[in-house]
Amino acid sequence: MIRVTDLRLPLHHPDEALPAAIRKRLRIEPRDLIRHTVARRAHDARDRTSIALVYSVDVAVRNEAAVLARFRRDRQVQLTPDTRYRPVATAPAGVARPVVIGAGPCGLFAGLILAQMGYRPIILDRGKVVRERTKDTWGLWRKSVLNPESNVQFGEGGAGTFSDGKLYSRIKDDRFLDRKVLTEFVRAGAPPEILTEAHPHIGTFRLVKMVENMRETIEALGGEYRFSTRVDGIDVVDDAGGGRRVRGLHLHDSGYLEADRVVLAIGHSARDTFAMLYEAGVHVEAKPFSIGVRIEHPQSWIDQARFGADAGNPILGAAEYHISHHCSNGRTVYSFCMCPGGTVVAATSEEGRVATNGMSQYSRNERNANSGFVVAIDPVRDFPGDPLAGLALQRHWEERAFVAGGSSYKAPAQRLGDFLAGRPSTTLGSVVPSYRPGVTPTDLAECLPDFAVAAMREALPVFGRQIRGYDHPDVVMTGVETRTSSPVRFTRGADFQSLNTAGLFPAGEGAGYAGGILSAAVDGIKVAEAVALSIGGSVVDA
Ligand code: FAD
Repeated sequence: MIRVTDLRLPLHHPDEALPAAIRKRLRIEPRDLIRHTVARRAHDARDRTSIALVYSVDVAVRNEAAVLARFRRDRQVQLTPDTRYRPVATAPAGVARPVVIGAGPCGLFAGLILAQMGYRPIILDRGKVVRERTKDTWGLWRKSVLNPESNVQFGEGGAGTFSDGKLYSRIKDDRFLDRKVLTEFVRAGAPPEILTEAHPHIGTFRLVKMVENMRETIEALGGEYRFSTRVDGIDVVDDAGGGRRVRGLHLHDSGYLEADRVVLAIGHSARDTFAMLYEAGVHVEAKPFSIGVRIEHPQSWIDQARFGADAGNPILGAAEYHISHHCSNGRTVYSFCMCPGGTVVAATSEEGRVATNGMSQYSRNERNANSGFVVAIDPVRDFPGDPLAGLALQRHWEERAFVAGGSSYKAPAQRLGDFLAGRPSTTLGSVVPSYRPGVTPTDLAECLPDFAVAAMREALPVFGRQIRGYDHPDVVMTGVETRTSSPVRFTRGADFQSLNTAGLFPAGEGAGYAGGILSAAVDGIKVAEAVALSIGGSVVDA
């Protein structure tokens, strides 16, 4: 097959326009085009008065070699890449079972790949199975009752389970591991469109079922899950070469588990586990992250600003945005994890603290668009000192937000007009906040560092010039958004093992190697392969 990329057609094109465009591009007669399938479809709405659909298509033609030869210097006409996934090893008989800590996207894919190679992994998660976890999560959203071990961050499926389920990333991926992730997701019940949409998303309800289906697959392959099993300690011993290596794990309430290969896929909110690993001497460094608020606009404003007369067209769906601004105080403000047609969610995992995030359903048909509106911060400038100083900073502002919200898990919120004017909000305006269990109108400047407030005040009018209505005075901001990514990195070497603790494989978002569902899942695959290769087993030729 030949892959033809960057075929542009008007949004309202008839079906037959695509094969016609292929024939024209390849300069072939109708009889020479045998069939075509869409590999990817994106839209280009930079000019909202003439929105284009941009296709990559796989094409079967007569005389393929001759056609390819004619286009050999054309990067948009190439042989279709082979994106099939090939396991790197198969497990030898009687091998010790690797242990995966965390059943988020990273741990799930590490577990799945290990299981598919025959290593029968044991997957531990401090939280509960996804259905029970869903009840606990709703407990905070509906009744203001937080379960610190079972919530938006902790439990089967990890942090992305109650999310927008956006499935794209900017990682470099020469081996098409993202394709493996999307294919497994479809097998587990995701809509097949995620294989062709340029910006695929799943929405939260489907993710719950998919996570269950993937568990069944892993168990059928000999893997084992243990829920409500928090790892509280790591047993490290000196090895023969003068280094250290992991020997086992201390489990909360359930004893000791021998393990000489451990995937550490604990996400960015396991602050107690970060501290435990630091105290056990595992190499860890502080890393940059961001801090800010969630901002909500009516989705119709965003659709109108982005798509003009084509707002509401089902091919385009609910409009997204990604914007950034470099401020005069040297700070960068940007939109983060934008959720079209979704809701702002309570995302804390610790008592007495408030943190926000966003989610949506597959339909993305809630009234408001929400997005993180955040300022980048870094350890050298903003939280120097020990590697865990970023955690202390997050906790400080989350506590301030809890108090400003009324010490009841309501979140502090403010009208954008009041935020710009530097006065507390006493009521909110036409934009109704979606956060549950509710918001308290107040002054968000009390819950954020001064430099962040200054940067956000500078960026809002700039964004308002890019997206009409973005800086409307009634727009609602809800705080605080502190968990954009991990504040630490458990640095690993070329063999994917901790720099100073052999057998420990830091992975995913919490270890500082991913930011989002897809990149965490891809990292899980890479780490599973590294575990298998470190054990040995028969190595399969790729
Ligand atoms: P996690 O998903 O955080 O999983 C870590 C797991 O480890 C958890 O299940 C936890 O219970 C477990 N764990 C932690 N400590 C221990 C311990 N000591 N013992 C045993 N188990 C432990 N990303 C996107 O790409 N698209 C989105 O639309 C999106 N929306 C989001 C919405 C929300 C509300 C949130 C919170 C996040 C969202 N994200 C989104 C981010 C995404 O969820 C994360 O990037 C991703 O889940 C990271 O995967 P992970 O496997 O590395 O870690």
